[in-house]
Amino acid sequence: MDLQRVSEVLAGEPAYRTRQVWEWTARGATSYEEMTNVSAETRVALTEQVPFSTLELMHEAVSSDGTIKALFHTHEGHPLEAVLMRFRDGRRSVCVSSQSGCPLTCTFCATGQMQFRRNLTEWEILDQALHFRRKEPIDHVVFMGMGEPMLNFDSVIAAARRLPDVGVTPRRTTISTVGWLPGLTRFVDEVTEPIRLALSLHAPADALRSEIMPVNDRFPLEAVLAECVRYYELYRRQVFVEYVMLDGINDSLAHARELAALLDRQIFKLNLIPYNPTGMYDGSSRERIQDFKDALHRAGFSPTVRLTRGRDIAAACGQLAATA
Ligand code: SAH
Repeated sequence: MDLQRVSEVLAGEPAYRTRQVWEWTARGATSYEEMTNVSAETRVALTEQVPFSTLELMHEAVSSDGTIKALFHTHEGHPLEAVLMRFRDGRRSVCVSSQSGCPLTCTFCATGQMQFRRNLTEWEILDQALHFRRKEPIDHVVFMGMGEPMLNFDSVIAAARRLPDVGVTPRRTTISTVGWLPGLTRFVDEVTEPIRLALSLHAPADALRSEIMPVNDRFPLEAVLAECVRYYELYRRQVFVEYVMLDGINDSLAHARELAALLDRQIFKLNLIPYNPTGMYDGSSRERIQDFKDALHRAGFSPTVRLTRGRDIAAACGQLAATA
């Protein structure tokens, strides 16, 4: 819902009116009609003038593990996807997109292969979470869908700051980045809420990282990691490191040792990600991932291995690539 437009339509009314509309929406209302503390006349005006969602749902797929992937279009028809993950312990986590497509070209990620359209607005980001909130309460949001959040800093942070109204606290909000420095630096300087930071690392040294993530040529590891260390020192919050396991590329024991030497284990929390097929690589075997994990363990880290969700509906990490 474009609250800016709502407040324009409500210009003649008391200022708290927009707030009331937002509160209903954030709590999962499905139409203006439900907003019983708003006059019938105003509800009609809103219904006529401001679409309830900025996004149009085009398709929804449900995985055998309960994961739901939604494909939306913006008003101009740009595609984007969002995913609801349901975990056995009751957690409900929504993975949102920050852009339609992505201008970066990480070789293992399907989104990089589609056309980049544009940054999403604050409202388009929130409407993805609200879509699922209308089905059931949600408690986590990860900015790990399509796009690079730090390239769309203002809208991403504005949306994240409204998520508590939707039931998602800053501590349960995670922004993932390739290490796009201008945005990352602003994040460290400006965002004092305890929003979690995740870094897509995927390689322990510049040469390999540049090969699989061309953005590394622009913002090399040393500078990116220094910014993560600054985040830790300012806020004493660990940085999550995502490391996708690519068979024969970045998954040897030598890579594990290099990784352990590169990162401070107080500051960085490692999350190994089984590769979801996008056609480019083979994923490391389970045994290899276990060996890699054990090597990190011996070096004093406590890495986790990410649960893969929604693979059968191409909703897992790196698989979001809607066709326009
Ligand atoms: N652009 C941001 C936000 C997207 S997060 C970022 O890269 O951090 C999506 C996560 O999924 C990233 O960690 C990304 O590296 C990872 N990923 C991409 N392709 C993948 C694949 N095929 N299998 C597993 N993880 C993948």
